[in-house]
Amino acid sequence: MKQGSGKPPGSPLPPITRRSLLAGAGGAVILPAVAKAAPGRSGAHVVVVGAGVFGAWTASHLLRAGHRVTLLDAWGPAHSRASSGGESRMTRAAYGKDAIYTRMALDSLRDWKALSDVSGLPIFHETGVLFFFPRDEAYVRDSLAAHKAMGLPTQALGRGEMARRFPMIDFEGVEVGLFEPGFGALMARRSVQMLVEQFVKSGGTYLRAEAQPLVGKGGKINSISLKSGERLGADSFVFAAGPWLPKLFPDVIGSRIFPTRQEVFFFAPPSGDRRFLPGAMPGWADFNGGDIFYGFPDLEARGVKFAHDAHGAVVDPDTQSREPSEAGLARIIAFRDRRFPLLRGAPLTEARVCQYENSSNGDFLIDIHPRHPNVLLVGGGSGHGFKHGPEVGRYAAQRLLGAVRPEPRFSLATKAQSQKREVH
Ligand SMILES: Cc1cc2nc3c(=O)[nH]c(=O)nc-3n(C[C@H](O)[C@H](O)[C@H](O)COP(=O)(O)OP(=O)(O)OC[C@H]3O[C@@H](n4cnc5c(N)ncnc54)[C@H](O)[C@@H]3O)c2cc1C
Repeated sequence: MKQGSGKPPGSPLPPITRRSLLAGAGGAVILPAVAKAAPGRSGAHVVVVGAGVFGAWTASHLLRAGHRVTLLDAWGPAHSRASSGGESRMTRAAYGKDAIYTRMALDSLRDWKALSDVSGLPIFHETGVLFFFPRDEAYVRDSLAAHKAMGLPTQALGRGEMARRFPMIDFEGVEVGLFEPGFGALMARRSVQMLVEQFVKSGGTYLRAEAQPLVGKGGKINSISLKSGERLGADSFVFAAGPWLPKLFPDVIGSRIFPTRQEVFFFAPPSGDRRFLPGAMPGWADFNGGDIFYGFPDLEARGVKFAHDAHGAVVDPDTQSREPSEAGLARIIAFRDRRFPLLRGAPLTEARVCQYENSSNGDFLIDIHPRHPNVLLVGGGSGHGFKHGPEVGRYAAQRLLGAVRPEPRFSLATKAQSQKREVH
């Protein structure tokens, strides 16, 4: 790797504090030093591009497996344009027939709780999660069967029981619900930043740097180009660039991943009304005949969260406006006033605009680049990826090392160009 700092290779790494980590370049990180092995480690050097939830967990698992790992991000862990940069993300195990994600959510929760245990502030709020449906449907029955097989205490609830337990919701037109007591909310941005901090403390290297698209015919690569003009060498590379993957790999990924605009709104609950606090109110999703809305209680006084789960317009994550639309706000208020009538007139406390990075059907992409055998592509979180970060990272690390049987659902070959969302 080219010298970029004037420091001789082998100079001790400057201390990376939480402050310099979050400030990105901040002048603190010296590029040439990243090729230096952390003391006591002899594994190969892996570069992970993208410090969102997928890249951060992949880097953490590779480090734990004994590798030298450099994690880089163009803007910083869970910044405001990243898909992982939101306030909160739901974790739940209800996935209908897609029990593969039930398993992953359950296994990931252990890691989230472990991270929460070492964090000064909570990473996980165990609010419980309630999904409710106009009528009994295969998704409910399949979820219950999968949960029973995995020993999860998920409850099927009728309308009367839901109305009694959750008086902040009007269950008009609802027949059945699924309540998952052990799941809830992950504090998204905080958890990714905390994870990257732990990664650095454990001997990993974090850099703020932008990787350039790969050029070259094929075969193993031994370095990538950075926008700064420098090259970063390693034995293998992981690209976990979320909604930027199509821009980095236009020929290989192209429209197999399409980022869509998603808006999220928070409203202040009536003063002193404890029904909207975690503990009383669960995380929830109204399946609403397929037109899904979801949200959270008033977590950490951010406001009661509402979002519409339909795909918005296809967007570019670099240039899309982060200003919420009037139409989006009006749609959310109409839904809120019908389903949560106690919140009528509640003031907006915050709004955020993010993007899903959808695969054709909602399955993740975790596969080796078709022309570069030491490059792994990781992404396609498709609006449900966050909760699975720990297991995506574990699988990605094993996949890169050839230590796991490839899962067809995560393969590039199964990623179509047409859009037909199937995983919910
Ligand atoms: C509004 C909204 C609500 C959601 N709700 C939920 C939920 O309730 N539950 C759930 O489980 N999931 C949810 N998701 C989905 C989940 O948040 C995403 O699937 C997940 O965060 C994707 O993470 P990622 O690491 O793939 O991408 P990102 O978080 O976008 O990270 C990619 C990173 O790569 C970096 N990068 C890109 N290009 C380069 C480059 N050239 N060089 C260096 N770095 C680069 C970017 O800066 C970025 O930080 C939601 C998503 C949104 C938008």
